[in-house]
Amino acid sequence: MKQIKRTIIAEALKRTDIGAEVNIKGWVRTKRGNKNVNFIALNDGSTIKNMQVVVDLAKIDEQLLKAVTTGACLSVNGILAESLGQGQTTEIQATEIDVLGKADETYPLQKKGHSLEKLREIAHLRPRTNTFGAVFRIRHNMAIAIHTFFHQKGFYYFHTPLITGSDCEGAGQMFQVTTMDLNNLKRTEDGKLDFSEDFFGKPTSLTVSGQLEGELAATSLGAIYTFGPTFRAENSNTPRHLAEFWMIEPEVAFNDITDNMDLAEEFIKFCVKWALDNCADDLQFLNDMFDKELIARLQGVLKDSFVRLAYTEGVKILEEAVKNGHKFEFPVYWGVDLASEHERYLVEEHFKRPVILTDYPKEIKAFYMKQNEDGKTVRAMDVLFPKIGEIIGGSEREADYDKLLARIQELNIPMKDMWWYLDTRKYGSCPHSGFGLGFERLMLFVTGMQNIRDVIPFPRTPKNAEF
Ligand code: ATP
Ligand code: MN
Repeated sequence: MKQIKRTIIAEALKRTDIGAEVNIKGWVRTKRGNKNVNFIALNDGSTIKNMQVVVDLAKIDEQLLKAVTTGACLSVNGILAESLGQGQTTEIQATEIDVLGKADETYPLQKKGHSLEKLREIAHLRPRTNTFGAVFRIRHNMAIAIHTFFHQKGFYYFHTPLITGSDCEGAGQMFQVTTMDLNNLKRTEDGKLDFSEDFFGKPTSLTVSGQLEGELAATSLGAIYTFGPTFRAENSNTPRHLAEFWMIEPEVAFNDITDNMDLAEEFIKFCVKWALDNCADDLQFLNDMFDKELIARLQGVLKDSFVRLAYTEGVKILEEAVKNGHKFEFPVYWGVDLASEHERYLVEEHFKRPVILTDYPKEIKAFYMKQNEDGKTVRAMDVLFPKIGEIIGGSEREADYDKLLARIQELNIPMKDMWWYLDTRKYGSCPHSGFGLGFERLMLFVTGMQNIRDVIPFPRTPKNAEF
């Protein structure tokens, strides 16, 4: 086969030098035609669009075409031509075809559509579908948007550890990390497990949040963000929870809760706008296939400013709704940790735009949140989104050493885990705030997908760690 430098299909579709000799490589989506001419739809992942390869059977060996089946990998040399077909600009008139990798009839992604549930069982192949190609290209774009946003604002990308020795990060159930032989556990004289022999010489776990270390960084570098995996061993089989997910956690010295809300709103809007500006083809596909209101919903979020409301006011609205006959699965009263159905009622039914709820009861929030004067609430903020419920959780942090210490003692959090964290308040303490955005929750919103298992390549959930 003649050596021609490969052009990715995203580029080849835009080229205007009609008549040029080109090479493309990719996987066969479909092949159709008659005994004179065949049309091969080739996709290489660079775009949701396929390149149409036109095969004149007078020029290409028919025997070779037998191996051109759905899923096979091809290298195609040909002449770039203007396409007469709808919705494509160029096509390729094949001069030479090389089958790089065959795919027989057992290839699971034959033409007929598969349900998203079925595709989860073949998560190793699902990126080859239009849907998952679109989702994972958008996922990449969202990661770039996030780094771009913070970099432009002068934040530093800070790496916090994934293995932690403290069991009080406060955000959820943890996975243990150990090299001990679980079939032969040593115990100390009082019958407890002997961790002195373990890899770190003490119990360790996978982190549920990088926030505490993030605060160390914010109170020295000024403004930082983390963006990495987090792990929660919560046995909640919902369409919004993963055992392994990615979180973005900005933390900023001298920001109060209002600055924190402003940052969260600007940040999400930046990401949504980035998707609209950079992922138009993929969003259009998801809009047409799954959710006819997707693009309108994304545009809607950019237009409106988010409602800002105290938890106490939010609960009043929900209680009023119950009085007027609205049925919730879970009860609602002051002090309750709101369920997703409550959050979504506020956003979708009542205000019809995103809501930032603030000043939650201290009992349902983490120990490090700044205590309000009323003695009952803390300066927390949750950003609530249509279809999702909570997408961001954050707060202004308690900067006062004595108040923080008192809360730590009240909750019986062991000091051995906390001394380094308290040092931020002991030496040059300052007001500061931050929040955590679940990357996959953002992905759910931006793609319109319904299940969090469909916006991460290889989901980890209870009883599932395949691939
Ligand atoms: P939820 O109430 O929805 O379980 P949370 O209050 O436990 O969330 P936080 O500890 O505030 O969550 O975490 C910050 C953000 O991380 C959340 O706003 C959400 O976007 C995301 N998040 C939390 N838990 C998960 C999970 N198990 N899977 C995916 N994302 C999550
Ligand atoms: Mn939360």
